[in-house]
Amino acid sequence: MVISRLAAVTREPRTEFIPLLAAQGRILGQDILSDRDYPPFDRSIRDGYAVRAADTHSGATLRCIGELKAGDTPSTTIQPGTCIQIMTGAALASGADAVIMIEHTQRNADMVTLDRAVQPGQHVVPRGSEQPANKTVLTKGTRLGFAQIAAAAQVGAAQLAVYRKPRITILSTGDEVVDFTATPGPFQIRNSNSASLAAQVAALHAEPVPLGNAKDTHQDLRAKIATGLQADALILSGGVSAGKYDLVEPVLREFGAEFIFADVAIRPGKPVVFALCQGKPVFGLPGNPVSTMVTFELFARIAIELLSGTEPTPLPCLEAILTERMQEKPGLTHFLPALLECGRPAAAFPSSGLPTADQREPSSRQASVQVGDPQPPRVTPLPWQGSGDITAMSRANCLLVIPPDRETIKAGERVQVILRGL
Ligand code: AMP
Ligand code: MG
Repeated sequence: MVISRLAAVTREPRTEFIPLLAAQGRILGQDILSDRDYPPFDRSIRDGYAVRAADTHSGATLRCIGELKAGDTPSTTIQPGTCIQIMTGAALASGADAVIMIEHTQRNADMVTLDRAVQPGQHVVPRGSEQPANKTVLTKGTRLGFAQIAAAAQVGAAQLAVYRKPRITILSTGDEVVDFTATPGPFQIRNSNSASLAAQVAALHAEPVPLGNAKDTHQDLRAKIATGLQADALILSGGVSAGKYDLVEPVLREFGAEFIFADVAIRPGKPVVFALCQGKPVFGLPGNPVSTMVTFELFARIAIELLSGTEPTPLPCLEAILTERMQEKPGLTHFLPALLECGRPAAAFPSSGLPTADQREPSSRQASVQVGDPQPPRVTPLPWQGSGDITAMSRANCLLVIPPDRETIKAGERVQVILRGL
């Protein structure tokens, strides 16, 4: 719903030129083309000998006519019955069409004996096969993570156009709320929502614009919402429940807001509000701090990604084994702070540890470490006092999802877990 309504009102953001290494996390505002073929030459991907595949069989002996290391210009042609020593990353010599790994050969002076045949093309990545010249490497709207930065660096895009960051105003509400730098009175609380929201906005590489806190009065809310609507989007926290002083919705209505939803069957965060106001997305997130954090991730994040010029990324979900029995009220989807532990990570060392000295090969190189079978992760809900419990949330590394049709879930059952942002 957020996506379809916002797609209609969002325009392509303006761009700015920045150096590649400053572009981490930003959204590409241009297509990036390859400046030449990749690889730029037929590249050996093994250390060994460049051969004519037709010359190879178990027991074949070839005469080695030289060597090619990465960066060398190949100048000799491989004739029948000959080969050339080649290193990983070097260009294949003309006449050769495959590489046999050094491990599968025996060298005696300039003669090389093979212990097997190789197929044409084996251990060679042909010129242009990863990326032909003048083709799109990265498309406009892509978020630049480390792999995309490598792809841009490979083709020499030292400066590139990225979309300007959308400015997101953040306004908390509540007579009891004081700035987090202040000392609260006995019945006041520090403004943690503006802090978590600023961090969540910044994590999306958008620009948080904190507007402080509005008192629970029409007048103060009206003035601060008017300021908030000057940005690309406004996120409020608090003041959206059914209490006498929950004034966010009536004040937004005064600004002509069109409400897309004002209640969602989730916990925490049920009273979350999404509206379009003067063409701008406005989110009224419930004030309980965990509700604020969760509803930002579920709803506001999507709007910020769209305003940033990129497609919303799906929530990173995975399945885990629940370690203890749970009981929750049916009819609502629950998002509970929880701890996810790896069963056995795919890249772990084997339980037997590294090879001992006498297990090691006589050469100076150690045997490769074997990797055990990955086990499914396990998830344990954290004890918590409900949606005001910031401490529990700060100890969580995931949100455990309980679907609305489940009242009890037994230990050992598989459940969904969201990894986003924690
Ligand atoms: P509300 O949604 O305004 O009814 O607030 C629900 C609960 O969240 C109340 O206990 C508030 O005191 C608390 N709360 C509201 N705003 C904030 C904030 N900015 N920071 C921390 N807690 C808040
Ligand atoms: Mg309030």
